[in-house]
Amino acid sequence: MSNCVFCNIETERILNNYNYFITFRDLYPVTDLHTLIVPKRHAVSYFELRDNELIELAKIIKYQKNELTNLDKTISGFNIGMNIGEDAGQTVFHCHVHIIPRRKGDVKNPKGGIRGVIPDKKIY
Ligand code: 5GP
Ligand code: ZN
Repeated sequence: MSNCVFCNIETERILNNYNYFITFRDLYPVTDLHTLIVPKRHAVSYFELRDNELIELAKIIKYQKNELTNLDKTISGFNIGMNIGEDAGQTVFHCHVHIIPRRKGDVKNPKGGIRGVIPDKKIY
């Protein structure tokens, strides 16, 4: 799609080139090495991905975990997720999986992690 930022990502930014996906670092990283896994085909969200893409995506998440932990030994956890739909916070309407490396002490109280999408409900 001509006006889609992820369809037009600069080739120099691409770190991995898989069959159906590429990876690149998030331009506004939440933590160091925050990485996006993005289908080459313009699909709006995970729910539009095809079976062959889904199979590769599951493997890439594991490859990325290995790559990132090899690159940075301080990584001790991950938040992995997707914002699907404007109401869930999606801003770029080309499917992408956020791989957010976490490190001990990077926030005061990590408890609840991804539950923090609804800030008042993060701690339970
Ligand atoms: P969303 O909010 O749609 O889940 O995530 C969009 C993500 O894309 C955000 O984390 C944002 O920082 C990142 N982003 C937005 N524009 C660009 C861009 O031009 N290049 C890269 N690499 N990341 C972008
Ligand atoms: Zn696109």
